[in-house]
Parts: sequence; structure tokens; C-alpha cells
Amino acid sequence: MEQGYYSHENPQNLVRTHRVDVAIVGGGMAGASAAVTAARLGLKTLLAQNRPCLGGPISTECESNSDGHLIVGGSNWTTRDARETGPIEEFRMTSADRYENGWRNHFSQVLRDIVEKESNLTLLLNTEVYDVKMEGKRIRELTARTIGSDLTHHIFPKMVIDCSGDSFVGFAAGAKYRQGREAKAEFNESLAPEESDSCVLGSSLYFRAVDVGHPVKFTPPDWADRIDESMFVNRNHQDITNGYWWLECGGDMDTVCDNEEIYKKLLKILYGIWDHIKNGGGHGADNFAIEWISSIPAKRESRRLIGDHILTEGEILAHSTFPDGVAYSGGNVDLHPIKGFYSGNEPSGGRHGIISPGLYQIPLRCLYSQNIENLLMAGRNISVSHVALSSTRMMGTCSVLGQAAAGTTFLCVKYSENPRQVAQKRIGELLRILHRVDHTVPGVAVTDPDNLCAQASVKVSSSMKLNLLHRGTGMREKLSADEIPSAQSFIATTESLDEAIFLMHNRSASAVTVHAELVRQQEMYEFTTGEVLATTSCTLPPGNAVQAHFRFQAKLQPGTRYYIRMAHAPDVESCLCEHYLPGVWKSKMKRSWPPQGDRHNHCVRFIPEQHPFAGENLLNNNNRGGDALSIWISDPDAPFPQSAEILFPERSLCSCVELVFDTGLDHINIYSRQQECVKEYVLEGIIAGEYQVLAEEKDNFLRFRKHVFPPIILDGIRLIVKASNGDPSARVYQIRAYKNSTVE
Ligand SMILES: Cc1cc2nc3c(=O)[nH]c(=O)nc-3n(C[C@H](O)[C@H](O)[C@H](O)COP(=O)(O)OP(=O)(O)OC[C@H]3O[C@@H](n4cnc5c(N)ncnc54)[C@H](O)[C@@H]3O)c2cc1C
Repeated sequence: MEQGYYSHENPQNLVRTHRVDVAIVGGGMAGASAAVTAARLGLKTLLAQNRPCLGGPISTECESNSDGHLIVGGSNWTTRDARETGPIEEFRMTSADRYENGWRNHFSQVLRDIVEKESNLTLLLNTEVYDVKMEGKRIRELTARTIGSDLTHHIFPKMVIDCSGDSFVGFAAGAKYRQGREAKAEFNESLAPEESDSCVLGSSLYFRAVDVGHPVKFTPPDWADRIDESMFVNRNHQDITNGYWWLECGGDMDTVCDNEEIYKKLLKILYGIWDHIKNGGGHGADNFAIEWISSIPAKRESRRLIGDHILTEGEILAHSTFPDGVAYSGGNVDLHPIKGFYSGNEPSGGRHGIISPGLYQIPLRCLYSQNIENLLMAGRNISVSHVALSSTRMMGTCSVLGQAAAGTTFLCVKYSENPRQVAQKRIGELLRILHRVDHTVPGVAVTDPDNLCAQASVKVSSSMKLNLLHRGTGMREKLSADEIPSAQSFIATTESLDEAIFLMHNRSASAVTVHAELVRQQEMYEFTTGEVLATTSCTLPPGNAVQAHFRFQAKLQPGTRYYIRMAHAPDVESCLCEHYLPGVWKSKMKRSWPPQGDRHNHCVRFIPEQHPFAGENLLNNNNRGGDALSIWISDPDAPFPQSAEILFPERSLCSCVELVFDTGLDHINIYSRQQECVKEYVLEGIIAGEYQVLAEEKDNFLRFRKHVFPPIILDGIRLIVKASNGDPSARVYQIRAYKNSTVE
């Protein structure tokens, strides 16, 4: 028989068998992040996604966020330095780089490219997991089918992470789950209804419209809804090109079983809205035509699997931490009205939620099934109440949940344990291995004894002092009587503070007395609480850019966060500089929509000088701005190249160096490379006083870089930073070195 000829007598192999460490079902943000993390930790990983592309609502076929960038989570109006790290940051930065270079709406391709680079990872697109076989309380086998290819897959995983949003695997395996809203009394949640019901957050449908250059008619299908201006309560539709998140319905239906019915309803609304825009007059839409409508609803909520803990509204608002806190969020508690577009009131915010609740942790106990031993969940289907889900469902949060679940499966496989056992006894180890893929949880300390740099000594070419007096941009902030006072925080590096000097502008004709307080900061972003250590005042003559000397003569504790709070002074403004400094924040953040973060600080100098950006910070495991010293920043007035030389405590075998750069974790929406990030660098090994190149990079834009090389005996390593993506300094959080490149 000729090669390549198939018949019933000589069938193709239409059945594939996969024996893997972990099967991840669902390729949204949670699944993609989990898969990349698991593969990088060395697990044999399979990712099955029933759509042709990755990303869920943010994917190219759904476009819940029309340019794919409003990936929020921890970052918010009131939080600082809170953007998520790990694979999610790589997705964002790669996407931002392509976006800047002219790509648009290719986020799914970014995800796919990164996923497909992983050698331990099998990606099955268009592949629906449709059957689950059990062995006692464990999932033994998943069966899947690839649409358009007749392929059937038998997947035998040690562990499963259900990232399907709908919780299909958990549901089919008999895992405990909830769907709908809890009654207010169950968890004492202010935003819950009096009675429990089956309602959820509704789904949305996106479209894109273009200017075709000449008037075009639009005749709606006869089944389109009839919609007039009065029905758009607080639904801004001035931009007619990008679709609307509030084009929403289905909250009172079953978003799993009624998905197709919901799609038809959404289409009726969409055509009704477009009929209103085109034919209702006054929308400037004569030349516009719809060029694309998503073929699936973007789903917000379906089933939530139940773990050993159910996170609730109260825990979010209390900024809770947990002994097994492995992920975090700060997303708005953002409930939408159940009737969606037809609710007759505003689509989000206001009475429906709590904007920017502040950071809180999510315990590992929310990420595994209570009753199925080898099942974890990540994304919008974790163990939270309906109200809490409206915050934890943010894309950035779903991603860190995926990362944390993948790290947990690593330990389950390593020790042949279940996730509950990991939660009970291995959280320290879990955080350590997640740290190796740059997963961080704000405020959570990690120990990493394998890092050859942990006990090393470091010498840097220069470092920046916290002296911002001369860096003013012309921007100023009034010392007004607002709810949030004008204040500047810093982490102390000396045992006393004699003076803080601010640059101020006194617009009145006479001298003004300005009062200030030195406060030990109690909560990271809070500028109204904390112990007042000293109060003082200074008299400011009229004029521009006058130095205000606040003499505190106070004792400080190095490594502790303080802030200086200035009282209301009419006609006085404090000068601002635009220089993003991790962990150094001014109190009032610029509010913009979409939220952007804020690079500004007060123009301030301390006596004695504070050095929160010293080279020693390269050796600790604090890799984001927060309550601890974290980053090396070279003197912005010293030119490139800048270098850091690290000497190990003893000559050591080394085969891997990990570098953590600064990508401006305070900024929320990323549309371009981050100027803070190191662009060009050389990594050298030091042996007997000689330098040997280990790696060279000319065009970096990523926060986390791992360099693996043949094992070599070294006395230390040197990083030479030759250029950044725009910032005048070299900015590096950590340099780590390891004997082995694999995580153990
Ligand atoms: C309209 C809309 C607007 C939003 N706006 C924002 C925003 O601006 N910012 C923000 O941060 N968040 C936003 N969100 C929330 C956020 O996008 C989602 O909560 C988040 O992306 C969910 O990610 P996930 O991975 O948990 O689930 P999903 O993204 O839903 O991914 C689950 C994937 O699993 C697949 N799947 C399901 N069953 C199977 C199966 N049996 N086999 C294989 N695959 C399966 C699904 O097709 C899907 O692709 C929005 C959500 C919506 C719907």
C-alpha cells in the first residue's frame, strides 16, 4: 500500500494518549499562566483549551477589552506598586512591546507564542475536555476531543487544575460547587441579597465598527430590540468603534446551560443599540459600519468550586492576610445589576460595589477542591462568595491564582501529597519555588537558601540617594484640606531624622507657617493613621521654589516605613517631581480612567541622607516596592554603564543566574515598554579576578530574565548595565545565582 493512504482497513491513529504531571483545562488568563508556570517548574504539562485561541474574554475572538490591556487585579487607584509579577508580567510586557510596534489586538497570539516556547508543555487548542473518569476521590482520566480533526485524547494526569471558568472538570468529577448568590446572612456581606438565589454576573458581547469613508445605511434585523436614548442609564456610547462592556445580559439565566440563548439575547441588544446609534440621530455614525461581532459571549461568572475556605466580602475589606496566602488582589468589588443593560440603573460601581478596596490575600485553601483529592482550581471559579468573586475575577488576579495553583501541583507531585497537605505544611517551600518564576505576593517574605548570592557581598558603581529636591517638573500639589492629606512616605535607612526639606511655592504676599508631622506608617497606603513621632513647622517666605526646612530631630528605625504629613496651608503648593521610585510614594494619587498609576513624588531631601536604593538590596528577596528595602537604583546623574559586582561567600559551582529588573509595577495600563526597565546588559562570571561573559542582552524589556549556562566554578558575578529603556538609572531588584538551573 502507498504511504500516506488511509482507509478503514488502515486507519489513522485518531487517538492520542497523554501521561502528564498536570492537566490544565481552560486557556484563559488563569490557565495560560498556570501552564507556563507548571512547565517552567519542570512539570510535564498539558493545556487543553476548547477555543481556537487563548485568553478567554480578552482573547482575539472575544475582545472583552478592546485592545487587550486593561488587565487589572492588585493595581488600583489606592494601591501602590501592586501589579502582578511572574508569567502574567511577561504576557503584559511582550504585548506592550508589540503594541508599541504597531500590533493591535493580538493578545491571544502573545499568549500562544509564550506557551508554545515551553518544551514541557503540550498545548491542545480547539480541544474540549468532555469526560472525567474517577478512581475513588481522584481524577484518573480526562477525555477530550479536538474539533476539526477527529482526534480523541485520553489524558492521564497526576494533578488537574480546572481553569475552565465554568468548572466543567470539578462539576463532572462531583466536586462541591456553588452557582448563584449567597444570602446576606450567610457571610454577613453588605452587598449580598437578603435571600440566596441563582443569579450571577451577566455576559457581554463585543463588536467593532469602522469609518468606511462614505455614508452607509444600516437596516436592523426584524428581531433586533428597539432601544432609545432613555435606556442607556449611565452607559456612555460616545465612542462607537469599540463595543461596550455594559452591553450585558444573562445574569438571571444559567450562564452554563443557557449560553447560546444568552448569545441570541445579546445579539438582539447589540443590533438594537447599533440601530439607535446609526438611525437614532446625533451619534456621528453616518459613515460607520460594524465590521466584526464576537461569536461568543464574554462570560463573567458561572460555577465556583468549593475549597477548604470560602473568601468573603468582609475578608476583602479587612485587607486580610492568611498563613497560606499565596495570591492577592485589590480589584474593585464590582457587582453588576442582574438585568444588565435592561436594569434601569447604572451598569457598575456606585451602589453595586466598592471601588478600590485595597490589597488582600487569597489563601491556598480557596484553590483546591474540598472533596476531590487531585483537583485544584484557578481563575474565576475559585472558592469565594459571589460578592468576593466580583473582585477576585480580575484578569491579573486570575493569573496569579493560576501561578499559585501550578506551584502547588509541583509540590503535590514532588511529595506525592494532596494540595491540602501542601497548604498545611509547605507554604514556605511553595513561596520559594514560586519566587523562582518571579511570582510575588506583596508583603510576604521568602527565604531562598539555594541562592548563592543570599550570603554574598556586593559592590555597585553608584547608587541613588533619596534627594529629589532638584528634580521638579513644574507640577505642584496644593496643601489643601482634603480627606487625604499631602504626605510623602519613605523607608528609613538611618537611625535619626534631623530634617526633611521640601520645595514649596508660597503664592501669597506674606510669609506662611506650614505645619508638618513625622509619622510611623501603620498601613502601607494609609496617610491618616500611624504613630506621630514628631511635629514641627517652618515659616515660608513668599515666592517660587522656596525650601521648607522641617526640623524633626527624631529617632528612626532603619528599614521602617515613615511618612511626612503636611497640614493644610492656603496658598502653599508643594513642588512635585516625576520619578517613579518603588516603595517611595506620595499620598495623593492621580485619578484617571483607566487608572494609570502615578510616577510623582514630592521634591524632598532628608538630613541625614536616606539611601533606600543601595546595592545591598540586590541580595534580598524583596522584589517589589512595599514595606521593605527592595531595589538597587544607580545614581541618575552618573552615566551608563553602571555595574554591580557580587562575590559569593565561597567559590561555588554555578549554572544559572536570575535577574529581576524594574518594569514600573505602579503603572496599571501598559501600552509600551517601561522606561525603568534595563535594556542592554552583560552578565559576567568572576573567577580568580578575571571576568568571563556568561550572557549578553541588547534589547531587553522583560522584568524577569533567567540565564542558564554550562556549570562553571565562580567566585562571583558581575552585571554591567549599558542602557535602559529610557530611565537614567540602572534599576535592578535582585540578582540570584544557583548551582542548578532547575527548581528542586
Ligand atoms: C465583558 C467582560 C469584561 C471584563 N473586563 C475586565 C477588565 O477590564 N479588567 C479585568 O482585569 N478583568 C475583566 N474582566 C474579568 C476577566 O476578564 C475574567 O474574569 C478572567 O479573564 C477570567 O479568566 P479565567 O481564566 O478564570 O476564565 P476564562 O477566561 O473564562 O477562561 C476559561 C477558558 O476555558 C475554556 N473552557 C471551558 N470549558 C472547557 C472545557 N471543558 N475544555 C477546554 N476548555 C474549556 C473556555 O472556553 C475559556 O476560554 C472582564 C470580564 C468580562 C466577561
